[in-house]
Amino acid sequence: MNVQDGMPLARLTTMGTGGPAAAFAKPTTLAELGRALAWAAERDLPVTTVGLGSNLLGADEGVEELVLKLAGELASVRADGETLVAGGGATNAVCLHHARAAGLGGFEFACAIPGTAGGGVRMNAGAYGSDWSEILVRARVVSAEGDAWLTPAELGLSYRHSELRPGEVVAEVEYRLVPRPPDEIKRAVADLVARRKATQPTNKRTFGSVFKNPDHELGAGRMLEACGLKGHAIGGAMISPMHANFIENAGGATTADALALMAEARRRAREQFGVELEHEVRLLGAISVT
Ligand SMILES: Cc1cc2nc3c(=O)[nH]c(=O)nc-3n(C[C@H](O)[C@H](O)[C@H](O)COP(=O)(O)OP(=O)(O)OC[C@H]3O[C@@H](n4cnc5c(N)ncnc54)[C@H](O)[C@@H]3O)c2cc1C
Repeated sequence: MNVQDGMPLARLTTMGTGGPAAAFAKPTTLAELGRALAWAAERDLPVTTVGLGSNLLGADEGVEELVLKLAGELASVRADGETLVAGGGATNAVCLHHARAAGLGGFEFACAIPGTAGGGVRMNAGAYGSDWSEILVRARVVSAEGDAWLTPAELGLSYRHSELRPGEVVAEVEYRLVPRPPDEIKRAVADLVARRKATQPTNKRTFGSVFKNPDHELGAGRMLEACGLKGHAIGGAMISPMHANFIENAGGATTADALALMAEARRRAREQFGVELEHEVRLLGAISVT
């Protein structure tokens, strides 16, 4: 396994912004992952694992960290009875493909979530009334300190939240699914994808939902729309004209542009609705949302 310098975070995130990572590696086995974590620990370098970078904004200045992207065995998928076993780096699309081929349903809700198994656990990602906590049996979490299989309760999964700490890598997961004919799964997925395309900017560079839905009758998107923010732009970043809880890279955006838009959105929601919006997107590097 090679450790590379200077991999641009822009190449590791769906938003396409962010500067270089001090070190970058793609472990393909548990042994390689262990060596990468030991390598970082010897140098006192923090470790972050990225999936598809679909809920991630990286600092324009880059990060003094070892950034890992799981590949090979750590991104493989197989069905074992009614259990789907996936590497932490396996994409949701590949998991869904294997589930359908094995006649296993229950993962359809993730068809429009462009992430990986590890990112799904970290975020307790969800859609259409389901989330990871409902299908996850257990996840194998590896860090410089050890290796343990944890249940959803032990992972502390709640709305778009887990208790995973920096440096903890989801290396493998087991999903408990249920028998369902492949054709039914195909139809259900087509329906969900069509619904998604009708309401969200699926063909733009974004990082998914910017803010968590607040405890309010309006979701974050409707609230920001009511603030008149649809289409509002700073630099190359623009609040999606289709759905106000998305920020698009409309061309040449930087992470700083996106953060400035997020600060403006928070200010307007506070002034107009008295609501403190909490960001859902994960931040990588020395950046924050004001
Ligand atoms: C168009 C679009 C639509 C989306 N729709 C939804 C939706 O409907 N519902 C929803 O919940 N989300 C949605 N998202 C957001 C995003 O896809 C999910 O949060 C997804 O689960 C993130 O997975 P990822 O692998 O890309 O993680 P990343 O974005 O790469 O990382 C997110 C966090 O997970 C951590 N992480 C990633 N992999 C691992 C690992 N193996 N071990 C430990 N930590 C890890 C990262 O360090 C980071 O903190 C959407 C995003 C886009 C761009």
